Amino acid sequence: MAVSDLRIASPKLGEPYLLTPGPLTTSYAVKQAMLKDWGSWDGDFRAMTAELRKRLLDLLGPGSDEFDCVPMQGSGTFAVEAMLASFIPKNGKVLVLANGAYGMRSVETLEYLGREHVVLNKGDYLPPRGEEVANILLEDPDITHVVAIHCETSSGILNPVEEISEVVYAAGRKLLIDSMSAFGAIPLEASQIRYEAMVSSANKCIEGVPGFGFIIARKDELEDARNNSHSLSLDVHAQWAHMNKSGQWRFTPPTHVVAAFLEALRAHELEGGVAGRGGRYKRNRDVMVAGMRELGFETLLDNRWLSPIIVTFFCPTDPNFVFDRFYELMKNKGFIIYPGKLTVVDSFRVGCIGQMDEHVMRNVVAAAREALEEMGVSDASPPAIALEERAKLAS
Ligand SMILES: *Cc1c(COP(=O)(O)O)cnc(C)c1O
Repeated sequence: MAVSDLRIASPKLGEPYLLTPGPLTTSYAVKQAMLKDWGSWDGDFRAMTAELRKRLLDLLGPGSDEFDCVPMQGSGTFAVEAMLASFIPKNGKVLVLANGAYGMRSVETLEYLGREHVVLNKGDYLPPRGEEVANILLEDPDITHVVAIHCETSSGILNPVEEISEVVYAAGRKLLIDSMSAFGAIPLEASQIRYEAMVSSANKCIEGVPGFGFIIARKDELEDARNNSHSLSLDVHAQWAHMNKSGQWRFTPPTHVVAAFLEALRAHELEGGVAGRGGRYKRNRDVMVAGMRELGFETLLDNRWLSPIIVTFFCPTDPNFVFDRFYELMKNKGFIIYPGKLTVVDSFRVGCIGQMDEHVMRNVVAAAREALEEMGVSDASPPAIALEERAKLAS
C-alpha cells in the first residue's frame, strides 16, 4: 500500500467528501491541530510562522533563496489583491490574461485599485497562448506587468504559464501568477519558470483549512514594493518587513489555521512534495474522468488541457437530468459536487483535490451512475451545441 493510501482518512460517517476546489476535505490530523490555543506574540507561534514560510519557499526548489514568502490574512482573493496592489506601481500598466471567472476577478480588482490595464479575454476556457501575448506586448510598450492564472478553476483548464513566462520576459516585462488552485500540486519551480510573484492560499492543494493566503515574491520586488499599496492591511511590503523584523504578523493572525496548515505541510512532504501530491491528484482525475466518460458524460476540455485540480462536465441533454436533483442525490451518497461556470452551456464540476484517492473516485463514479438511474437518465451525453463549443478549442 502506498503512503498516500495510508494517509487518506475517510471523513466521519455521514460527512460528505468535498469534491470542490477549496475548502476541501482535510485529514483528521489537520483538524486535530486546531484543538489548541496559541498566543500570537509567543515564541512558539513565531516559530510556527517561520517554519510555514520556509516550507512554502522550499517548494520552489533550487533558486528559492531569491524569493521570500509573506502570509496574508483573508481568503485567496485578499492575497491576490495584496499582490496586485503591492507589485504594480501606480504608474504601471497591466495585461490580464483572462479565460474565466478568476481572470475577470483580477480585472475587477485592478479597476478598484485604479491601475491601468488591458485584458486579453479568451472567454470561458480558451487558453491564452504565448504568440498572442507576445504580439500584444510588441504593440503596447507601456505594458509593464502581465497577470496570468495558473489553473483557471472556473473551467479547470491548466493554462500554459511556461510559454507565457518566456514571451513576457523576452519582451522585458514582468509576470505575476495567480497559482491559487495549482500551487503544491503543479510545479512552479524557480529554476524552471520565471516570475516576480505568485499567490496561493491555505485551503487548496496544501489541504489546509481556509483563513489565509500567501504571496511568494522575489526579494528585490518585495523591497521595491514600499508605498505601492492603497491598503494598510493588504500591504505586502509592510507585512514582509514587519514579519522579518519581529517574526510576527502585523495584525491578529489566524492562529488555529496556521497550526492546521503546518500539519498539512508536513503531510505534503511525507506524500512526496509537489510530485507526490500532483501524482495522486492525477490518478484521482484519470479514474474519475474515465468512469464518467464511460457513463456517457463529456468533459469540456480534451485531455491536453485537463488539470488534475477540477474537471468541468457538460450536463446531459436528457430532459430527466436536473442539476439540482443530481446535486442532492450525489450529496446523499456522500459527495458534494460543484456547479459549473460556463456561460454558453450548462455544466457542473468535480474536484480532484483534498483527502481523496482513486478508491474514493471510483465511488464517486458509482454514485453518479446510481443518481442517473434514480433520475431516469439513460443517456448522459451533452447537447450538440456543447460539442460544437468544444470543437473551438481544437481549431
Ligand atoms: C480559489 C481561487 C481564488 C481565491 O478565491 P477565494 O474564494 O477568495 O479563496 C483565486 N484564484 C483562483 C484561480 C482560485 O482557484
